[in-house]
Amino acid sequence: MTANQLTRFRLRLRSRLEGIQSKVGEIRNDLLQIAEARPAVLGDSLDQAKDAMDMNTRLELHDHSLRSKVQTQQALEKINNGTFGQCESCEEYIDMRRLEAHPTAALCLECQDKQERENSFRPRLLTSFRYSDLMYLNSGAV
Ligand SMILES: [Zn+2]
Repeated sequence: MTANQLTRFRLRLRSRLEGIQSKVGEIRNDLLQIAEARPAVLGDSLDQAKDAMDMNTRLELHDHSLRSKVQTQQALEKINNGTFGQCESCEEYIDMRRLEAHPTAALCLECQDKQERENSFRPRLLTSFRYSDLMYLNSGAV
């Protein structure tokens, strides 16, 4: 990877990190507001249910944002220590088109696919079971 490409990725990742940080701040403010408004809505079970749903949605967003933040920070560290663009599993270089689309990608496409196949055997809720999983299970590969 050229120095110019690295600089471009660094700028992209930094602005992504700033975006995530301000998003996390917004979500935390929302959570605080919901929490502060709580005593007022107690007593109405419909309001309480809505309230809990609002909380959950924001907690999930918060969780997701924190994960993106860690991934982005790790990608920036890799730029600093010279391992950016290398697959964490097989250490081959990740395809540039993949990196352009996902600058925080830690694995090459092959290793990512492999990991997803392995993960698909973990027990999970039926609702998140994808059609492609069924096809794979039915293919006799298991
Ligand atoms: Zn790999």
